[in-house]
Parts: sequence; structure tokens; C-alpha cells
Amino acid sequence: MTATAYTNARLLDFEREALTAPTTVTTDGDTIASIGQAAPANAEIIDLGGQTLMPGLIDSHFHVVAHTLNLWSNAIAPDSLAAFRAGAVMEELLTRGFTTVRDLGGADLGLVRAVEDGYIDGPNLVICGKGLSMTGGHTDLRERTDIRPDALGWRLGNMGILVDGVDNVRATCRKMLKEGAKFIKVMANGGVSSPNDPIDSIQYSDAEILAMVEEAKNANTYVAAHVYHDAAIRRCVDLGVHSLEHCNLITPETARRAADAGCIAVPTLVAYEGLKLEGAALGLGHAEQAKIDVVRDRGLESLAIMRDAGLSMAFGTDLLGQLRKYGGMEFDLLAKVLTPAQIIRSATEVGARLCGLEGKAGTIKQGARADMIVVNADPFADVTILGKPQTHITRVIKSGRTVRERAHPKGGHL
Ligand code: ZN
Ligand code: ZN
Repeated sequence: MTATAYTNARLLDFEREALTAPTTVTTDGDTIASIGQAAPANAEIIDLGGQTLMPGLIDSHFHVVAHTLNLWSNAIAPDSLAAFRAGAVMEELLTRGFTTVRDLGGADLGLVRAVEDGYIDGPNLVICGKGLSMTGGHTDLRERTDIRPDALGWRLGNMGILVDGVDNVRATCRKMLKEGAKFIKVMANGGVSSPNDPIDSIQYSDAEILAMVEEAKNANTYVAAHVYHDAAIRRCVDLGVHSLEHCNLITPETARRAADAGCIAVPTLVAYEGLKLEGAALGLGHAEQAKIDVVRDRGLESLAIMRDAGLSMAFGTDLLGQLRKYGGMEFDLLAKVLTPAQIIRSATEVGARLCGLEGKAGTIKQGARADMIVVNADPFADVTILGKPQTHITRVIKSGRTVRERAHPKGGHL
């Protein structure tokens, strides 16, 4: 294994909420070997010239198979085409500095392995298989008059699978865990990008969600739930769900309950900004458009409620299809309420906890994966630079290898 020493690197100091003095970080193969020690004699030296070296970013809510906003079109695509499309989406994510991505429905073990084996030049993928949805639930994309069975469920381009009943739910969880799922995703509440489920509809019975929670716990993992409405969030917390996606309509009391239970929330505010800006033009139906404002208007307020309750938050975008281009805007939205340090942690350390990679990803320390980015500015001073990769992320390092490199704006190619 070859050693690489990144010299003149300023690291994140969360205690001071400032950058450290320039130092040296050495990687050995795909692992961080040392910090603050002189470069070994045989190491390749990369002088970062005082730039920031920080952990690779983690998006904790994404769907890499959502190539277009037309979810039917994704679902009906042949698996081989869906895989190539997902590969392109993943390569784009890596370019934006995301070295780990938690997929909340759609991706399979094939995509995980394609990254590991070098066929896709993308982020490490942490998958849940398909999101579980009841008939008429959030991933039931059929129109009311469409009585065909859910024949597309296991297609790679589909984000969810329709499953009803405790026994079927258990069998599906077991199948997905056996096939590489690292957690279970449930649609426990109505959603925006689906035609027949109002935002305030509660989805699945308590018994079905308890069965998912039990199956996940037995496999030493957790359930993540799609939830907007306060009643739906509270029910999921009480049933043992750990990861609370979106949470736009959460109340202070429920946020405290979730914090006490050790839950992690994943707000995805930019998803609604993107849908508001372009959803109609990109083919989102009238029923879906009408639901956007309900969740969008309360987004920033939910951040303050969760922060004040001490509820941990992980960074997520949930941008579907062509709306991916707005990914950087999530940093701008979060910065209206949270501090840079809180936002950086959400996109590194907290995300790593949800990915089951605590201490391995989202951190620069000895023994962690050498997944890092080089930034030509101070994210404690302006965290929104992390959403502007073209001008501010000059190098992406994954598994100890430079996978993206941009000219340093101050002159010269690093
Ligand atoms: Zn969702
Ligand atoms: Zn989602």
C-alpha cells in the first residue's frame, strides 16, 4: 500500500469552531494512518497550501435510482438502463464531494458492489432495498382507476414495494436484509410525490411497523420512516423507529420525545424548494403540486424546533431527478437556522451514525476511511461554500485515492 501525505492542511476544530494551524495528514492505502506527524520517507507528498482538509460529505437521504422526476418512467425502465442511470447520478454526487450516500429506497446490492469493484466511480452506498409502502401508500404510484397489481415493485428504478400485513412485512424485511439492506425504510405517512395519499394520512398499522422494528432490531439495525405530520412522527417514535425523515410538521413536544428516544431526524428542505421551482414544468401532477406548500412552509420552523429540543439532525436532500442540480441549496436553507458547526456535523459525523459508519466515515482520525475533501475556504466562516463544489471543492479523496481534482482558483493545478 502506498502512503500519501497531505501537508499544509487545515483541519476542522469543532471545539473552537475554527480551522487548525496547517498540519500533515497521512493516508496508507484506504485508511488514515496519522495526523500531525511528519510525512514518512516513502510517502507521496501533496501540499494543500493551507486549504481545508475535511471529511468527505454524507447525504443521508437520497434515491440514486430516481433519474427523472417522473417516477413511473424510472420504475418502468429496464434494470440495466436503471443501473447505468444510477451510476451517472452517483458519479455526480462524488463530484459534489459526497463520499458516502445513504439511499432511502431503490438502490440494490448490485450498485453497492459496482462501486466497491470499481465499475461506478461513485460514493459508498448504504442501502435499505425498497421502501415499504402499504397499498395506497406513499410509493403506490398507481392512479385510482389503475387496479393492476404492483408488478414493478422489484424493478431497480422503483423506490418502493407494496406490502400489506404483518407476515408479508416480516418476509420482505428479511429478504431485503438478506440481500444487503443496512436498515429498513417505511412509508409511515402521506407524501408529496404520490397521487392518492394526503399529507395527514397515517400509513401502516402499529402492528406492521412494530414487526419492521423487530426485524430490524434482530438484525442489529433500525427503521427509517418517511414522516411529515406530527401525529405520524410521534407514533413512529413510540413504536421504536430510529431515523425520522423530513419531519416538516413536527411540534416541540414530539421533538423532545424523539430526542429522549435517541432518534435522528433528517430534514430535506431543498426537496420542496426544488419541487416548488420546477415540479410543475417537470411533470409533477396537480394533486402532488398542491401538497408542496403544506410541507415547504413549515420547513425552516421545524429546524428550529428540532434544534431547540436537542434532536440530532443529519444532512439529507431527497432531490429527485432533474432537481438534483439544487443540491447545494440545502446548505443555504440550513444556514438560515443552524450554525456552520451544526451543519458540518450533520453532513459528516451524524450522517456516519445513520450509515453505521461511526468513527469510520465523516471524521478525520487515525483508522478512519481516507474519504476526504479539500476546500479552498473556511466552512466555519461560510458553510454554504460546501454547496458550491465547482468553485470551492478542489479535491475529492475516496479510499485514499484522489478521484476528483480541480484547478485551484488562485492559480496552478494542485
Ligand atoms: Zn419521503
Ligand atoms: Zn426520499
